[in-house]
Amino acid sequence: MSEQYDLAVIGSGPGGYVAAIRAAQLGFKTVCIDKRGTFGGTCLNVGCIPSKALLQATEMFAHLNHQAKDFGIEITNASMNFSKMMERKNQVVKTLTDGIAGLFRRHGVHVLNGEAQFLDPHRLKITQSESTVEIQAKYILIATGSESIELPHLPFDEKKIISSTGALSLLECPKELLVIGGGVIGVELASVYQRLGAKVPIIDMMDRLGPGLDLALSKQLLQSLKKQGIDCWLSSKVVSADLKSKDAVLSIEQNGQTIQKNGDIVLVAVGRRPFTKGLQLEKVGIQLDAKGFIIVDQNFRTSQKHVFAIGDTIEGVMLAHRASAEGVAIVEALKGGNPIVNYLAIPNVVYTNPEVASVGLTEEECQQDQMEIIVGTSFFRGNPRARCMDETEGFVKIIGDKHTGRLIGMHIIGPHASELISEGMLAIQNKALVEDLAEAPQAHPTLSEAIKEAALEALGRAIHH
Ligand SMILES: Cc1cc2nc3c(=O)[nH]c(=O)nc-3n(C[C@H](O)[C@H](O)[C@H](O)COP(=O)(O)OP(=O)(O)OC[C@H]3O[C@@H](n4cnc5c(N)ncnc54)[C@H](O)[C@@H]3O)c2cc1C
Repeated sequence: MSEQYDLAVIGSGPGGYVAAIRAAQLGFKTVCIDKRGTFGGTCLNVGCIPSKALLQATEMFAHLNHQAKDFGIEITNASMNFSKMMERKNQVVKTLTDGIAGLFRRHGVHVLNGEAQFLDPHRLKITQSESTVEIQAKYILIATGSESIELPHLPFDEKKIISSTGALSLLECPKELLVIGGGVIGVELASVYQRLGAKVPIIDMMDRLGPGLDLALSKQLLQSLKKQGIDCWLSSKVVSADLKSKDAVLSIEQNGQTIQKNGDIVLVAVGRRPFTKGLQLEKVGIQLDAKGFIIVDQNFRTSQKHVFAIGDTIEGVMLAHRASAEGVAIVEALKGGNPIVNYLAIPNVVYTNPEVASVGLTEEECQQDQMEIIVGTSFFRGNPRARCMDETEGFVKIIGDKHTGRLIGMHIIGPHASELISEGMLAIQNKALVEDLAEAPQAHPTLSEAIKEAALEALGRAIHH
């Protein structure tokens, strides 16, 4: 007889593992299934965590090389041990993925390593390396994530043509890494290798970096990356590739001309698509949209009412914390709660230098919706703490609803933007007013004072302008 569960979670990424633990806490007999061999999904294994470990290492290296001397720190011949840097990254990943296994044990979540597929609406077959197991579940949660999109003329071999996964595990630093895609993943990985000495031109079809970012941030990011030596070829389309020689040669259309560009490695970072291969969703009538996302209602229910889908498998911004929030919302709803995911309060961060972080609506989105808004900006060059840190690039931009006074957007490019944005997230989550931010007595000297100053500026009361 197959083992019976209240909830079977397919996928142990930030969507799946968090949902599984919360379900176990709420008393559901829960199993979490993953085919990867380690837990934590894309995020912990080949996404958020390894990329940030490499960004941290290379940022420290860049600081020592370029900025330390301005602080009076004399360093001669700082060099990067590439394999040691990768080893450390692997260790960070291992510690965190092992940590999920420990959390599963502590919370009593059963685990199965193997690939799940539907046999019928309540039964799953899990194919393990040498055997198969069948289980039954009252509820099933699909959290199988996403995969990198390939370009037709540039199939991944993870040597010369690499996805983000390959870029996180190179054996040596390339001389010229051609990065196709100026989205979050492209600019972060370009930053890593540029800091190590590679040339890293970024090529993108769009006329701006970071689609979805507030335009002012996108422009500042472009300027900052250029200053660091990253060439950004915007409005440029890769139309073909010659992969026969040692180098890859890309043909790029730009302003009606075709230009050729060589590189030893090409990183294709043009986006990700939902991953549902092998689940046999068609067998149980679970429908996908034209882009391959699982179709769900506002309660994350698929066309099978007891089967739910979250995270990268459904339409929306592909972010770890969004997947986790959706997972928790579902299991709490199964227990009778009515939790809602507040998408307006979900922050989005790009871990470049300077960092870029946003929450809520952009100015363009407000304009499209013909909203009347108030906007305030405060530049880090006027912020005392940023001066002490010698990190004065960037600004805080605040957007408020003119009629209600509520904060509806916060956009930061600058030092520690990833941490500062939590103030905007909390304010939006709690429906705070721009006035509340303006009145908050921030500690001095802190970067957070720039948030207060931007709020004051939005209200026409800026002190330091
Ligand atoms: C390079 C990179 C950097 C990123 N950086 C960030 C960041 O800084 N911040 C952020 O918020 N997001 C970041 N992301 C995005 C983030 O990783 C994803 O949004 C997040 O992992 C999605 O979580 P998920 O639970 O939906 O799926 P995933 O994390 O993709 O997990 C899905 C899991 O399901 C398993 N699986 C798939 N099919 C089956 C099956 N049939 N049976 C069993 N198991 C299966 C997979 O093995 C995988 O482990 C990054 C992504 C990449 C690629």
